[in-house]
Amino acid sequence: MSNSTTTIKPHFDLAKRAASYRVVHPEDPAPAPTLRVHPDSARDLIFACGLTKSYRRHKTSVPVLKGVDFAAERGKITAIIGQSGSGKSTLLHLLGTLDRPDSGEIHFAGQRIDSLPVRQRDRFRNEQLGMIFQFYHLLPELTVLENVLAPAMISKGVFSYWRNSRPIQASAKKWIDLVGLGHRMNHRPCELSGGEMQRTAIARALINDPSILLADEPTGNLDQETGASILRLLQSLNRDHGLTIVMVTHDESVAQSCDSIVRLTGGKVERLPTLGIAANSGTN
Ligand code: ADP
Ligand code: MG
Repeated sequence: MSNSTTTIKPHFDLAKRAASYRVVHPEDPAPAPTLRVHPDSARDLIFACGLTKSYRRHKTSVPVLKGVDFAAERGKITAIIGQSGSGKSTLLHLLGTLDRPDSGEIHFAGQRIDSLPVRQRDRFRNEQLGMIFQFYHLLPELTVLENVLAPAMISKGVFSYWRNSRPIQASAKKWIDLVGLGHRMNHRPCELSGGEMQRTAIARALINDPSILLADEPTGNLDQETGASILRLLQSLNRDHGLTIVMVTHDESVAQSCDSIVRLTGGKVERLPTLGIAANSGTN
């Protein structure tokens, strides 16, 4: 079959959108503490403009992101694809405020987040973002229930947590049930399969009712069937709970099932075709 793009219907044109959000002083490398751009926060939950990021290796600086524009629409699933080493995780970490860009801006629901002071950034991350990773990052000595409760304990603080522990535990159990692990509540990660560990990580990511889930290769460590079931779970969370999802994947077929696709190459967003699943006519 040819690589014809006849079934590809552009869903939105991010390059155009980014151009319209042009910052006043795009060449200024130091992020100013004030809002300088005005993204369409009614449409885009998270928006990034002109992101650059380099890592130091020995005495040299290795540029990874060289001016990346990115937007994730509210209520949609956006895939970030690209070859290994292209900077997908780096971009996701910047969006998740786990790291700071060297230059550029990131806005969440109309608020600039990349220049927030550390404490505010930590609170923002804890309350607004859910994150899942390829290798789950569960705490091995805690049960499923305890792992899921951990972010709630951190965000509430010990005293407030103990005062409200009943509703918080009920919420944790609700999410654990919803991801299909009601029967594994008191199991430790070493007693779980890969898919069950990722389901636990998803429940943990949702315990504080985030508005966005950032997922770094969530199916990357799973066999095809289990990966497909995790993808279906994420799609149902998006559909039934309106959860906005940004998902890094190297799997083109996973990306094709998302609402839009951003491809990173050479430190830039190469092209931004958006493959609305509804846009594909007929069967494949
Ligand atoms: P991807 O997720 O697309 O595989 P990454 O964002 O993890 O790519 O990494 C992009 C590049 O940056 C790679 O060459 C990687 O080795 C390098 N890199 C990532 N994190 C660091 C770090 N903390 N220190 C130095 N180099 C890093
Ligand atoms: Mg990666």
